[in-house]
Amino acid sequence: SGPADCPADVETLGRGTWTLLHTIAAQYPTQPTLGQQADVRGFIGSLSRLYPCWVCAEDFQKFLAKSPVLATSRDEFGRWLCAAHNEVNEKLGKPQFDCNLWEERWRTGWKDGRCD
Ligand code: FAD
Repeated sequence: SGPADCPADVETLGRGTWTLLHTIAAQYPTQPTLGQQADVRGFIGSLSRLYPCWVCAEDFQKFLAKSPVLATSRDEFGRWLCAAHNEVNEKLGKPQFDCNLWEERWRTGWKDGRCD
């Protein structure tokens, strides 16, 4: 989080962005229309060009070139996003997240009722 009223650093920006992205996946339809699929692809593509951390943006664009957005269903998009996030985790030496748990983390809440 950091001190109040300071510009976001790369970590605060990252946490906020992942929260937005995984929450979009959580709200994404199980059977999206072609228009909704195009919106998601367009949003991710724009984000990869506008993301205000240039090294992050460059690597994210490379990831997209080899792994294009998959968004024909909520689960497919949630898992694609989880894989994209895991690629950054690997680069930063953070643990891999189990993508079978993405909905518990971001949509339904953990089965034991905690929320972290
Ligand atoms: P975060 O990685 O921000 O994760 C937040 C929470 O998401 C975690 O606590 C966990 O509960 C959950 N989570 C973790 N992994 C997954 C997953 N695979 N799927 C679903 N949920 C998960 N930082 C850099 O220093 N260099 C970079 O090049 C870089 N590139 C980035 C590219 C993008 C597109 C984004 C959005 C962020 C990037 N970041 C980068 C920021 C970095 O990913 C982290 O957000 C930041 O380091 C803070 O990490 P954190 O440990 O707080 O957790």
